[in-house]
Amino acid sequence: MSVQLGYIIPKEDQAPLPKYYCSINDLPNKIGGLPIWLDPRNPAGRVECGNCSKQMPLLLQLYAPQDYPSNAFHRVVYVFCCKSGSCVISNKGIKVLRLQLERENEIYNEEGDLLIEFQVQDGALSNSKGVNYCYICGKSAPSRCGKCHVNKYCSREHQELDWTHGHHKHLCGTGNEARNEIKSWLSTFNFPELEMEEEEEPEKKVEQVEPEIMEKLNVKEEGDNVLEDEDETEAEVDRTFLKFQKRISLSPDQVLRYGRQPEGDNPLWASDIGRNNTIPNCPKCSSPRTFEFQLTPQLLSHLELNNKDPNSIDWGTVIVYTCKSDCDAANGQYAEEYAFVQEFASAGLGDSHRKILAERAEKEETQD
Ligand SMILES: [Zn+2]
Ligand SMILES: [Zn+2]
Ligand SMILES: [Zn+2]
Ligand SMILES: [Zn+2]
Repeated sequence: MSVQLGYIIPKEDQAPLPKYYCSINDLPNKIGGLPIWLDPRNPAGRVECGNCSKQMPLLLQLYAPQDYPSNAFHRVVYVFCCKSGSCVISNKGIKVLRLQLERENEIYNEEGDLLIEFQVQDGALSNSKGVNYCYICGKSAPSRCGKCHVNKYCSREHQELDWTHGHHKHLCGTGNEARNEIKSWLSTFNFPELEMEEEEEPEKKVEQVEPEIMEKLNVKEEGDNVLEDEDETEAEVDRTFLKFQKRISLSPDQVLRYGRQPEGDNPLWASDIGRNNTIPNCPKCSSPRTFEFQLTPQLLSHLELNNKDPNSIDWGTVIVYTCKSDCDAANGQYAEEYAFVQEFASAGLGDSHRKILAERAEKEETQD
């Protein structure tokens, strides 16, 4: 059983990423930014938070093709996330979409190169009638600014956001509507765009790093029995959390753990408390959904969150389950998958965990 880990490529090594579409070989695994659509003619439409109903930005996308079934030859999983912490914790603030294509399809040749020449101008795809991308979030945009007809939107919400935050009120009709001029404000809505790379989980002995972490958490471990030091322990630490911590400490910079069966592994729970053992079946084909990947708390440190905001998003882990059958999403239909958000058992532990990881990373940097 092996787990592939996802890491954020260091900022200085990040190359510019394609927008909206690219060949399969250039398709990045990434967090943030606008979605890059597997089928550029078919961007997903509105993706609303199940709690606050706001449009959700892309949290990450992952190219995860499968040998079987044939309709999953190309396969991308998109994860969208509300920026409100209470929505995320309610488990309604993260949505997962999956899109697949057969090996033989109208968009890519056998080598994965684009068969169609696409061009996007002013957020509209040429050669393809009626395909517009939302100026704010990159999703399908059925409406546009009624005055300049340039900026396209997925929703009224994003039109209003552009009018106010994006200063479209002043830019409309000036010929300067194009996103490049003013795109910095978009980061208030979208997550920062960063490419990921993958590596197999290392097998390095955990003892090398573990005592330091345990010490910082004020937790003592004797053999297999984990004891809490009653005088010093402020946070309640459970065994599952310790396991989580140990395993993550093999490679503390990991932001994603990919463990789909048959080669993969089970998800790592962040705590004994708040596990979800009933995963809803795929609504399209009724197959069970199985574990595919999970997000670690370390991912949060790349999202440029406002840590002073009490409603900033936070999690112990986010576990993503997908249809075991990879049922037919090839006819342009996005399949909705299931994400489960688990908190650490005790409030504040997420922060201390991140702090420890950040300190470790800093230490390693200064050692280099
Ligand atoms: Zn929300
Ligand atoms: Zn939008
Ligand atoms: Zn306008
Ligand atoms: Zn299914």
